[in-house]
Amino acid sequence: MKQQCVKVLKKKGEPVRKMLLELEILDNSLKIGVDEAFLYLPLSRKPAPGELESFLEETELIAFDFELQQKKPAPEDLLGFSPSYEVIGDIALLEDTDLDSQKASRIADALLRTQPNIKTVLKPLTPVIGEFRVREFEVVAGVPTTETIHREYGCRYKVDISRAYFTPRLSTERSRILSWIKEGDTIVDMFAGVGPYSILLAKSKKPSKVIAIDKNPDAVHYLKENINLNSAKNIEAIEGDAREEAKKFAGTADHVVMNLPHNAHEFLDSAVLLTKPGGIIHYYGITPEDNLYESSIKLIRGAAERAGRKVEVLEKRVVRSYAPHQYNICIEARII
Ligand code: SAM
Repeated sequence: MKQQCVKVLKKKGEPVRKMLLELEILDNSLKIGVDEAFLYLPLSRKPAPGELESFLEETELIAFDFELQQKKPAPEDLLGFSPSYEVIGDIALLEDTDLDSQKASRIADALLRTQPNIKTVLKPLTPVIGEFRVREFEVVAGVPTTETIHREYGCRYKVDISRAYFTPRLSTERSRILSWIKEGDTIVDMFAGVGPYSILLAKSKKPSKVIAIDKNPDAVHYLKENINLNSAKNIEAIEGDAREEAKKFAGTADHVVMNLPHNAHEFLDSAVLLTKPGGIIHYYGITPEDNLYESSIKLIRGAAERAGRKVEVLEKRVVRSYAPHQYNICIEARII
């Protein structure tokens, strides 16, 4: 279809395209035209006098015959509604666990047809449960697997999500912890899972050592694979109970990461034991909205007092909403 456009030499085209985008007059419903020497940038309206002044000499306003931009169909175009799902690597997890099998199959089919990055669609059969915080799944469609590689902040995490815990929903939180770490620090990740905290911290901040502990042998299997996959240095992966392992590293940690929000309070004595004087505990909890922090701070103070130490609360924040009126919180506490 014929439309007004800006004609510009290819090699001078990018700043002009950016300017049109900023002015919100680049017509994205049409494909940018191109020939050997020129780009033809379609306009949604005529530029006002002066709008393209800085490019007056290299541009020309002409009419050009454009092709329509092909809009890729989205799942909602095929289904008539937007399905809720979470993506881990190339696996989509359906979030509505009450779906009947016919509706789950329709959604899975739409996802596989429209999202080239998705190869498998799973429906969780249980919530995250048990000491190892894992779920059971049913394969709804696609490649029948629960193993994948998830990419996050330049790191890769291989995981079988039916055998070890992993969620991309904590990615922002993981990057927030980064800002607390300094080069040369020693970090103990008491509940490391497949390594998303340990590996990100080790890769980004040059700590002198990261001790990554998990009790789930499958999580530690993937943790070790992920350390290699990411060429992460200075991580010691340990399969064991954080309470027992803490005794071996008493007084060594500048930072202790306690990402076991339902039960972290049971491990506070070990976390205090791990910290150097002035070391920081990153404590996660699940708390009700009418008592977001106070009970948890009391528990941290109690553990410190039992060890004859003091606490300075440095930061407290909501990480995400967990359930109605329940929040996943984090408290940063210095143990003096
Ligand atoms: N930090 C990881 C992440 O962000 O993906 C994993 C967090 S997951 C909520 C908690 C982890 O703690 C699980 O991998 C579980 O196996 C581990 N865990 C539970 N009890 C433990 C214990 N007593 N000692 C060490 N690890 C434990």
